[in-house]
Amino acid sequence: MRIFCASIATETNTFSPLRTDFSDFKESFYAPPGQHPVTPTLCSAVFTEARVRAAKEGWDLIEGTATWAEPGGLVNRETYEQLRDEVLGQLRAAMPVDAVILGLHGAMVAQGYLDCEGDLISRIRAIVGPDVIIGTSFDPHSHLTELRVSNADIIVAFKEFPHTDFVETGRAVVDLVLRTLRGEIKPIKAVFDCHMIEVLPTSREPMRSFIDRAKALEGTDGVLSVSFIHGFMAGDVPDLGAKVIVTTDNDPTKAHDIAQLLGQELFGFRGVTRPSFLTPDAALDQALASDAKPIVLTDVWDNPGGGVPGDSTILLRAAMERGLCDFAVGTIWDPMAVRICISAGEGAILPLRFGGKTGAHAGAPIDAEVRVKKIRRESWQYFGDSIVPLGDCAVIELPGGGEVILNSNRSQSFDPSLFSNMGIDPSSKKYLFIKSTNHFYDAFAKIAGEIIYVDVHGPYPSDPKTNGYRHLTRPLWPIVDDPFAAIAS
Ligand SMILES: [Zn+2]
Repeated sequence: MRIFCASIATETNTFSPLRTDFSDFKESFYAPPGQHPVTPTLCSAVFTEARVRAAKEGWDLIEGTATWAEPGGLVNRETYEQLRDEVLGQLRAAMPVDAVILGLHGAMVAQGYLDCEGDLISRIRAIVGPDVIIGTSFDPHSHLTELRVSNADIIVAFKEFPHTDFVETGRAVVDLVLRTLRGEIKPIKAVFDCHMIEVLPTSREPMRSFIDRAKALEGTDGVLSVSFIHGFMAGDVPDLGAKVIVTTDNDPTKAHDIAQLLGQELFGFRGVTRPSFLTPDAALDQALASDAKPIVLTDVWDNPGGGVPGDSTILLRAAMERGLCDFAVGTIWDPMAVRICISAGEGAILPLRFGGKTGAHAGAPIDAEVRVKKIRRESWQYFGDSIVPLGDCAVIELPGGGEVILNSNRSQSFDPSLFSNMGIDPSSKKYLFIKSTNHFYDAFAKIAGEIIYVDVHGPYPSDPKTNGYRHLTRPLWPIVDDPFAAIAS
């Protein structure tokens, strides 16, 4: 038995001022065949899980390229076609194969390609023919298109947001593909379109028990897999929005019924799943009145994980204006300022302009006399078991004593190790300012005295009603109050 696997992944914010090319993939993660590390990355757990099964069961795993770019702006056409053709060439060389297993994100948009993953999967189908099994994992912050559903046999998305279950998801894809190959199951999929776009964290109710119930369905009564696509509101594509995909063992009616039931329930959660997001002023009021320590204030929209640059200064400036001193910021993306700090050296005191450079939405740059407290080449943070590179970093100390980590590789704030790796004990600070919508939650909740979500009106297209989608043609809540009535009429 021969199985080919590959992973091309990024999440494209089509509204971002950034653009994505091959250097962004190289900077985040690029592993040519055979060079995938022992630990999985968010979208490539199918590699590590397939290795375990291949070694145990004695079949051949042919590894193609695995690559990931930090979420950003539109991918340039040459880069997408180059990566796609690289993987298709590896697949052709590996033929004949019994199955293809992919680790995809599902929200990649390139110049001329609104559905990169659909394009990739359908080209793979054209190479392998109708009988070879194709399985893929997706991130729920993706777009589920008919092209993907009709060309892949197995589709499983992470159920948790934060995505703490990316390894289990990779394992499920590999397992379902192997069981299909052995004739143990005959997967049949059904999709329900929820016609909504919402932030759906599973770390809190009502999503928590909803996901637990969905998980309990799996493996019982012929239900093979239940996945929820949350959608990604910063991607202007026709299939934007939440969908449910259910796979049963050769039971199309059951797949359809469960998808519809769960999809209608999910639609009922619209408007009630978000944590309360405070304005910067209200957030700082609450933080100043609190005895907790440390208080984690997360800038939910200036989150590089959503494809924005991550160099907003708006919240930091507000904190400085309020006179806060005992804080650390992790991080502000500013490779130019990092370069200057490295040249100045640890201990140097210099006037520095940092942050707010990528566009008007990021706020104005901050000018301050700073002390370079620490320099670290190639710093990093954990995200679960995986290592996320932050590039060359500098800690600068502001005149009031506040500390700011400047990074060169864009990344959202996943884990307190981003502070400790830069010599800052996160528990010793009264306030920690981070940039993440919800992925930070699992790791930071372990050390946080209090968590405050801050809604800074900034670079992210956070209001579907005013985002001005050009490619979206389906009725979608909250743009339309009752999308199902709109469809019926
Ligand atoms: Zn995601």
